[in-house]
Amino acid sequence: MKYISTRGQSEPVDFVGACLAGLAPDGGLYVPETFPSIAPAKPGETYTQVAARILSAFAGDTLSLDELEGLCEKAYGTFAHQSVAPLTQTGPASWQLELHHGPTLAFKDVAMQLIGQLYDHLLAKTGQRMTIMCATSGDTGGAAAAAFAGAKNANLVILHPFERISPVQRLFMTTTGAENVFNLALDSDFDTCQTIVKSLFSDRDFVTRVGLSGVNSINWVRIAAQMVYYATAQAALAQPIRFVVPSGNMGDALAGYVAARCGMLTGGLEIVCAVNENDSLARIFNTGVMAREAAVSTPSPAMDISIPSNFERLLFELSGRDSDVVRSAYNSFAQSGEAVLPENVTSRLACSGMKAASVSNLDTMAEMKRVEAETGWLICPHTAVGTHVARSLPKADVATVVLATASPAKFPETVLEATGRDCPLPDRVKGLRDQEEVFERIEPNLGAVRARVEEITG
Ligand SMILES: *Cc1c(COP(=O)(O)O)cnc(C)c1O
Repeated sequence: MKYISTRGQSEPVDFVGACLAGLAPDGGLYVPETFPSIAPAKPGETYTQVAARILSAFAGDTLSLDELEGLCEKAYGTFAHQSVAPLTQTGPASWQLELHHGPTLAFKDVAMQLIGQLYDHLLAKTGQRMTIMCATSGDTGGAAAAAFAGAKNANLVILHPFERISPVQRLFMTTTGAENVFNLALDSDFDTCQTIVKSLFSDRDFVTRVGLSGVNSINWVRIAAQMVYYATAQAALAQPIRFVVPSGNMGDALAGYVAARCGMLTGGLEIVCAVNENDSLARIFNTGVMAREAAVSTPSPAMDISIPSNFERLLFELSGRDSDVVRSAYNSFAQSGEAVLPENVTSRLACSGMKAASVSNLDTMAEMKRVEAETGWLICPHTAVGTHVARSLPKADVATVVLATASPAKFPETVLEATGRDCPLPDRVKGLRDQEEVFERIEPNLGAVRARVEEITG
């Protein structure tokens, strides 16, 4: 299985290459040359078995199914729930898919725990040492810190927008005590952090010198790992499902799209991306125009993202895998902050089964309160964006699954404000608040970050 760049100007790479590279040298995102056909999950198959099967379809003969099952077992053994991603019913035809039973209480753990195992395995094989960089809007950083703390063959450098993430989100990445984890706080928004990371990746000298690798949702392995719960939910419900996915960088929603393309979902594809007041994605869907806007702060900080990176992969598919279309859209976007998508792309988007809807800050808070009143449950603000969208959809009898992307305990301040209730951390992470935090403030520009990474890697 080869991986090609959405921008068409990089050499194809194998699975290991795609896995360790993150971004392609031409600035594009890696996608498999063709989508493999993968048998749907069967009732009775364990999460780990489905995960290993999916990974195996993408890894080709790089790793055996046995090896992959071993890695998946280790990765998902860290979860507090044996089902890994349990489904809970919330109404006659509605469910939540709980993705927050991992070490840092958000769905990023699902992919990151696996990536940690995979990197460890691959780097130990080759004796390579790498510098993993990630920009985080809150949850990826903590998940990566949990996955890589103490790793023998890798340093992890995390960029986060200072004071734009929740205190618990920050604690998860700053308290590992591991010498190979570095936290850089930038006075900026997430998009600036992400742009800096992307610029570092486009500097080929730098990439080779420091052995740079990326674990943001631009990494294909994350997409593959996130396909698994779509497949297990499908097996559990055994009927066509409409998925509602709280979205930021769109990695989670794209995984659903790919699961459908690989034949793992029955019935037509329907995935609704639920976004907050950072509604660029909804605008792209509604107007066909991709426009840069400054990200605004909302109660769902992990989704405070202006332009979702993974839209590029969807654009590649919608254009009929035409890398010229992708390149010209992103060049125009880079130059003028705006790109108008071609007519054939917007018409395909309209009938792709992918949709997007945005929810205001006020509605998000009201939704948390409503769910608490109706069910006694506390939900996280990101999940609330999803459940709000789900309620507004037509055809209430279609089985609707909202991805519950984080535990409410990760956002206790917001939960308290919305519902008047306290939401303590679960016992398994209770000690978090007593740990010492380690992070550094750094100027929000490319030069400063590059210099610091050079220093770290010696
Ligand atoms: C990252 C994140 C999202 C958005 O996921 P994307 O893959 O970036 O679209 C939603 N909710 C939570 C809690 C997250 O951490």
